[in-house]
Amino acid sequence: MRQALKVEAMVEIVKAGEGEILDVELDVNLQRRNLELAESNRRLLESFGVKAVDFMGSVGSGKTCLIGRLVETLKPEYRIGVIGGDLTTTIDMDFLSCLGVPVVQVNTGRECHLDANLVAKALEKFNLKELDLLFIENVGNIICPADFPLGAHRRVAVVSVVDSPYTIVKHPLTFQTVDVAVLNKLDLAEAVGADVGRLEADIQKINPRLKIVKASCKTGLGIEKLREALNL
Ligand code: MG
Ligand code: ZN
Repeated sequence: MRQALKVEAMVEIVKAGEGEILDVELDVNLQRRNLELAESNRRLLESFGVKAVDFMGSVGSGKTCLIGRLVETLKPEYRIGVIGGDLTTTIDMDFLSCLGVPVVQVNTGRECHLDANLVAKALEKFNLKELDLLFIENVGNIICPADFPLGAHRRVAVVSVVDSPYTIVKHPLTFQTVDVAVLNKLDLAEAVGADVGRLEADIQKINPRLKIVKASCKTGLGIEKLREALNL
């Protein structure tokens, strides 16, 4: 936790007003088009009876590890596929493919989020008849994925308790738009002096309906709870 300043902070704020952000028109059209494609992805998935879950969170929050744990737990009951978004590497999907499930890597280049169009292209690579469940790992970033629904049935935000204590309050939109929040790396909470109760309270304040799961990928803590929270 940062030390409180002895003097009262005086900060001038510049706020972006309506129409004051460059390319706002393009932005609105882009988001509308994304939403149409997300709805089409959802219809396609549902026509094959596939349920999809989108995971978003910063690099290092533990998305890949959580998905890996879920795959291990759910594999006896579900036929699972994974789509992974990453700027340039295949590190995470290499790891998950070792668990014996079909994976598709989407390399976005410069884009810092997956969008519904990229997911539509990735879906073409699967035999959807042979899937029951699809996990989507978004690009490591907790800001703009919130603006780009992909057609998934559930959205999960992953926050590591090792991250800044302000990660949650700084990203209200993300926590308003997801269904489940995971507080990950709980095994490290004491070592880094994380106030887990405070993080939970921050989430509840932004979205009182959100399901919160305290987890540790390393120990397996919370994986059953996450499964329940996702109705799987
Ligand atoms: Mg990852
Ligand atoms: Zn982005």
